[in-house]
Amino acid sequence: MPRTKSLATLINYYGEDRSFTPRINKIPTIYKILNKQIFNNKLKNPKIIVKRIHGALGYFEFSPYATKHCHKITLHNKFRNFREFAEILGHEMVHYYQKLILKQNTAKHNKEFYSFTKKFAKLGLKLKRVYR
Ligand SMILES: [Zn+2]
Repeated sequence: MPRTKSLATLINYYGEDRSFTPRINKIPTIYKILNKQIFNNKLKNPKIIVKRIHGALGYFEFSPYATKHCHKITLHNKFRNFREFAEILGHEMVHYYQKLILKQNTAKHNKEFYSFTKKFAKLGLKLKRVYR
């Protein structure tokens, strides 16, 4: 992975046609870029795990009584390409923002969720409810 702070560089580097398998040690780099470009660095560091998921590409969970991590993002272990991975990570980060910053109890696809559409588009990403 090239050393860069530009998501466009990474999207270009990985290409559209190559499937992307997220490595847990590489995710923080991409998380940081999205946090800065989309969320003005307001997000903290949730627990992020990668595993095979059925019926979704990612999800966000809030567990108020968890001993260590109340906020958790789970990502699927395989994506169509890097861009799709970035879209899903960004999508779950919006849910995290809704919970952490907006204090919304149910982080749904409401108008606050879609208020990030333009910022996503600037990075070449789509913000949708479902991706496939
Ligand atoms: Zn969602």
